[in-house]
Amino acid sequence: MKTLEYEGKKVFRKYSLPVPRGIPAVSPEEARTAARELGGEVVVKAQVHIGGRGKAGGIKFAADPEEAEKKAAEILGMDIRGYTVERIYIEEKVDIRGEYYIGITTDRSARLPVMIISSEGGMDIETVAREKPDRITKFNIDPLWGLHPYQVRKEALRTGIDADKARAVAGLAMKLYELYLKEDATLVEINPAIVLPDGEVICGDSKLVLDDNAGFRHPEWESEIIPDVYDPVEIEARENGISFVRLEGNIAVIGNGAGLVMSTLDSLALEGGSAANFLDIGGGALAERTEKALKLAFGLSGIDVVFINIFGGITRCDEVARGIVAVMEEVKLDKPVVVRLIGHNEEKGRRILEESGLNIHIYETMRDATRQAVSFSLGGA
Ligand code: GDP
Ligand code: MN
Repeated sequence: MKTLEYEGKKVFRKYSLPVPRGIPAVSPEEARTAARELGGEVVVKAQVHIGGRGKAGGIKFAADPEEAEKKAAEILGMDIRGYTVERIYIEEKVDIRGEYYIGITTDRSARLPVMIISSEGGMDIETVAREKPDRITKFNIDPLWGLHPYQVRKEALRTGIDADKARAVAGLAMKLYELYLKEDATLVEINPAIVLPDGEVICGDSKLVLDDNAGFRHPEWESEIIPDVYDPVEIEARENGISFVRLEGNIAVIGNGAGLVMSTLDSLALEGGSAANFLDIGGGALAERTEKALKLAFGLSGIDVVFINIFGGITRCDEVARGIVAVMEEVKLDKPVVVRLIGHNEEKGRRILEESGLNIHIYETMRDATRQAVSFSLGGA
């Protein structure tokens, strides 16, 4: 599960990682009170489960509490790449002299943690890797040997960070690695790590993904970080026994079986499209669960088309088809739906879809269906 910035920063504080003072808020009035409490200039930051808020207008500066209230009103309710802003974070404004990147994630191919450091923070790390490869470094951490400050200093120097700052970066990196291990994180990122005028380096932003599989040994996640930690759609999905993960594209995806859904995502990417989510309704999907899943997918914000990929084994195609028609009519879906439906009772299922007269496009092969979905997602017919 992914935390919001201010939740991640709560965890950062536990590991003595330096973060600016800040107060979360859900209304312009709360923002005003928070700004008064912080004193001086503040930053009003949208709290959504997605990056790139700065570019999308989700981060604004305010000189006093009145202005903070005004900026909060502008940001609350804003749509940032499909996410509605329901919460903001009011933070003291700091004077920025430089921005770095420090992150740790799990390198599956090396089966080791990997640390990434860059002297070019504040922007997308993928962009830095592409455009300024000499400004970024990446190295695996051997869990038996541990992480040592000299390693981090040596790597940081290679990206152009000077010796003084490299020492500060190493200090942050050591704490970050401790957090990564103890919190069972799969990703933790400081972007930007902000260089202050006095040379100190602090955490300007947080990104933290915790491994759900380790949740049983972290009761404090729920008591200290939740309830805001979850994406509300993910909570609803979980409560209904549906595996759902939010992604960043505009093609809503539904399939039965994790493997099929994964390959659906791959084939969409291969054809130049981008999925809005992962959604597995599971094997032998019951009518009720199917209906819930359809409603979830149809209701996602920022989508242009829905792609339903069903391989009917135990699942009956006619039952799924009936569910699709019923839910489309109920929610009055105004987007095209591409369906690839094969297996048990497929002819019956396809007939139900064809006879519905709804905006449904039926295919037998995954490739044809994928191409149609991608075409819709790019604004084509
Ligand atoms: P993101 O766009 O979602 O990654 O949000 P960030 O928290 O990383 O903020 C984006 C950018 O806003 C940073 O890289 C900074 O340039 C700027 N910013 C954020 N907080 C402050 C602050 O306190 N002072 C100043 N001057 N700039 C800030
Ligand atoms: Mn950031």
